[in-house]
Amino acid sequence: MVTFALHGVGVSGGIAIGRAQLVSHATLEVAHYVVPASRVDHEIARLELAIDEVQKELTELHGTMTRSGDLPGEFGAFLDVHWMILNDPTLSEAPKRIITEQRCNAEWALTQQMNVLIDQFEQIEDSYLRERKADVVQVVERVLKRLMGKPGSLPTSVAEERTILVAHDLSPADVIQFKQHHFAAFLTDVGGVTSHTAIVARSLAVPAVVATHNARQMIHDGEMLIVDGTNHVVIVNPDRSVLSEYRLKQSELDLERQKLKRLRGKPAETIDGHRVELHANIELPGDLAQVLESGANGVGLFRSEFLFLNRAGLPTEDEQFEAYRAVAAGLAGKPVTIRTFDLGADKQKAELDGLARVAPNPALGLRAVRFCLAEPKLFLTQLRAILRASHYGKVRLLIPMLASVAEIDATLAMIDQAKESLRERGEPFDEGIEVGGMIEVPAAVLAIGGFLAKLDFLSIGTNDLIQYTLAVDRSDEAVSHLYDPLHPAIIKLIALAIAGANRAKVPIAVCGEMAGEMTLTRVLLGLGLRNFSMHPAQVPTVKQRVLTSDVSAIRPVVERMKRTDSPAKLAALLDKLNA
Ligand code: PEP
Ligand code: MG
Repeated sequence: MVTFALHGVGVSGGIAIGRAQLVSHATLEVAHYVVPASRVDHEIARLELAIDEVQKELTELHGTMTRSGDLPGEFGAFLDVHWMILNDPTLSEAPKRIITEQRCNAEWALTQQMNVLIDQFEQIEDSYLRERKADVVQVVERVLKRLMGKPGSLPTSVAEERTILVAHDLSPADVIQFKQHHFAAFLTDVGGVTSHTAIVARSLAVPAVVATHNARQMIHDGEMLIVDGTNHVVIVNPDRSVLSEYRLKQSELDLERQKLKRLRGKPAETIDGHRVELHANIELPGDLAQVLESGANGVGLFRSEFLFLNRAGLPTEDEQFEAYRAVAAGLAGKPVTIRTFDLGADKQKAELDGLARVAPNPALGLRAVRFCLAEPKLFLTQLRAILRASHYGKVRLLIPMLASVAEIDATLAMIDQAKESLRERGEPFDEGIEVGGMIEVPAAVLAIGGFLAKLDFLSIGTNDLIQYTLAVDRSDEAVSHLYDPLHPAIIKLIALAIAGANRAKVPIAVCGEMAGEMTLTRVLLGLGLRNFSMHPAQVPTVKQRVLTSDVSAIRPVVERMKRTDSPAKLAALLDKLNA
C-alpha cells in the first residue's frame, strides 16, 4: 500500500487515527439516459416523490433536533435554508420541464438544473449569497440519493474500529446524523474555515481537515488514516514507524490535555497572590459546553453577530432572546458579556446592506455601533432581547467600536428606550444591568476619561485596536506582516487604557487575541490587567502561565517595555519575561 499525504485546511485541531469510511457522492455518479415518451410522466412522478421524501426528512430532522435540545440552534437555521431551496420552483419545477423537453431521466434533469443554478450563484458579487451555492449542491445531493435508492448519505453502522469519515462535502443535515455516530474525525474535499462543516467540527471537538480537493477520490474504504487537524495534514496508509510516531504524539497530547484539565477548578492566581479572572469568548450558544469544560469564570465576549450570519433572514427578538437566555442560564450565575452585534467590515449580512451598497472603506464605515445607531429598529430589537435574558442570569451589555462620547450617550438613550418598552410590556429584566464599551479605536484610549465617566466597565478589543492604530487591515493578507501586537505604540496604548481604568476603579478586560496568547500573558499582567477573555481552548494554557507568574518580578521589565520605542528592545524584554 502506498503512503501519501494530503494537505488541506485544519478547521478543528487534534490527532485522530482510524479507518476511512467513504460517504457516497451522488452528483458525481449520475447516469444519463433517454426515456421513452410514455415514461416521461413516470420520471416526473419519481422526482416529485423524491423531493417530497426529502422534505419530510428535513422536517423530521428539525423535530429530532428540537427535541434532543443538545444541538446548536444555528442548525435549525441551516435546515431552514435547505427547506427553502428545496421548495423554490427553480429547483423543484424547472427539472420537470427538462425531463419533458429532453426526455431524460429525473437524476440527469435535476443535475442539469443544479449546474444552471451554480453558474448563476457564481455571478453574484455578495460573498454570503455566493457561498449559498454549496447549500444548493447539498440539497440536490440529498434528492439524488433518494432517486438512486440510497437514502441518507451517512453510513448507518459504525465499525468497532475508530472511523474517519471521508466526504466530498457534509451538509448540516448530514451532520445532525453524524453527531449520533461518534466518528473520530472527518475530512472533506471542499469547505473553508468558516464553512458550516468547520463550525460543526469545532463544536463536536473532533479533528477535521477540509479543502483537501480530492481526498474522496484518492482514499479507499477501510484505508488507515491519520488526521492531524492542527497541522492541516492527512496521512494515508502510514507505515509502522509513522503510525507509532503519531500514536506517541496523540498520547502526549492527551496527557497534556489531562494535565491542564486538572487546573480546571483551580483559581487563576499569580505566585504573589494576584487574583486573575479568565473568561471565554463565544460566537454561538453551542460553544457553551466548551466554556464550562475549560474552567472559565464566565463569558467575556459573546460575539452576537454570529446569530445573524450563516442564515436566511434576520433573527427575531424571541429567537435572539432564546439564544441569550440559554447562555445566561447555562452559566448558572457566572457572568456573560453580550456584545451588541458588530456587523459591517469583514462580517457582512446581505439583507442589511440595503441596495447592496459597497462602502468605499468598510472597516472605517458604518460598522458595529455606528451601524446599530443608524438602524435603531434592529438595535432596539436586540437590546430588548438581551435585557429580557438578563432576568435569567448575570448578563452584561458590551458596545463595540465606540469612538466618542456622543455615541455612548446615544447608545445609553437607546438602552433606556428598550427598558421602557419592556416595562410597558410588563417583562422582567435586570434594572441594574451593567453597560460596558469596547476600546478598539485609538481615540477611545486617548480620550478615555469620557468613557470611564459613563460606562460600568471596559474591554480592550486588541484585534481592532491594532488594525486602527497601525492602519493595517486585519483581513488583508498583503499587509499581515505589518500587523504587530508588540508595536511600541500598541503597548503604550494598552498601558494607558489599563492605567486609566485602574485609577478610576472601572473594571477593564482584554478580549482580543492578545488575551489568549500565552507569550503575552505576562506583559498584560505587568501592565496591571486582571481580566482576560479568550477562546475557551486557550484558558488552560493561560491559566498555567498565570500560576507560574510573579507580578513583582514582571513589573520592572514591563515598565521598561512601556518606555521604549525600539522594537528590538521590546523583543529582548519579552524574551526576558518569558525566560
Ligand atoms: C477585537 O477587535 O479585538 C475583538 C475582540 O472583536 P472582534 O475580533 O470580534 O472584532
Ligand atoms: Mg473588534
